[in-house]
Order: sequence, then structure tokens, then C-alpha cells
Amino acid sequence: MSTATKVWTRESGLVEKRDVWTALKRGLRGRCPRCGEGKLFRAFLKTADSCSVCGQDFTPHRADDLPAYLVIVIVGHLVVPLALFIETNYAPPVALQLSIYMPLTLVCSLALLQPVKGAVVALQWALRMHGFDETPADGIPPV
Ligand SMILES: [Zn+2]
Repeated sequence: MSTATKVWTRESGLVEKRDVWTALKRGLRGRCPRCGEGKLFRAFLKTADSCSVCGQDFTPHRADDLPAYLVIVIVGHLVVPLALFIETNYAPPVALQLSIYMPLTLVCSLALLQPVKGAVVALQWALRMHGFDETPADGIPPV
């Protein structure tokens, strides 16, 4: 059973309190944003249908291409300044630079994709986006 804190709001009645930063940290670790215990992924980039511990449904997420765009921005801001620094200060042969930057970019991108996707899914959950708001239409949440 979930140990999540319930808070009262005038608009929606008793709802589960969702902390964005806690959810982001759990998502970065590939864990369920709700309980932090169950696995968020069943494969490299395939989210599980639901949490094995608390039963949170992950199917409403709509991460789409956002994790890939964020990884491009992050890795680009790491590799391009490094390449510019090395080129301006040492000017090594192009073949040597390519043999370093290409694998570095690939490894960094693959390493960041799953954590970033987990964070995106967790953010959507914390902000009750795309069907993650399970408050029923009658305003009476299940106990
Ligand atoms: Zn869970």
C-alpha cells in the first residue's frame, strides 16, 4: 500500500501529494516516481506497464522525443566546448579528434538516455500530466 501523503484541495478533494524533486531523483535512478522502489523500465527505453511495488500505472506517460532532445543538448554542451578547447590549445590531427569525440558522444548519449527519460516520465507523473491524475470524476478518491 502506498505511504504517499494525502492533501486536501478545494478543487479536487483528497489527492496524493507529489513532490517534483523527489520524483525527478527517483526517475533519474530508474525507479518508480511514486514509491521509489519499483523499476520504471522493463528494457533500456521501454517503461514498465506498472510499478511492481505500488502498482502505479506508467502507461499514461508521453515522453516521446523530449529525452532525446535533452540528451542532445546536454551532451552537446559537454563535447563541443571540450573539442573547441582541445582544438584551440593543442590542434591534434582531425583523425585523432574524431576517434575521441565520436565514441565519447555515443557513450555519453547512451549513458544519459535512460536516466533522462526516467526524469521526464517522473516529471509528468509529479505534475499530473497525460492521465497521471487519477482523481475520479466524482471527486472521491479510492482508499
Ligand atoms: Zn511504485
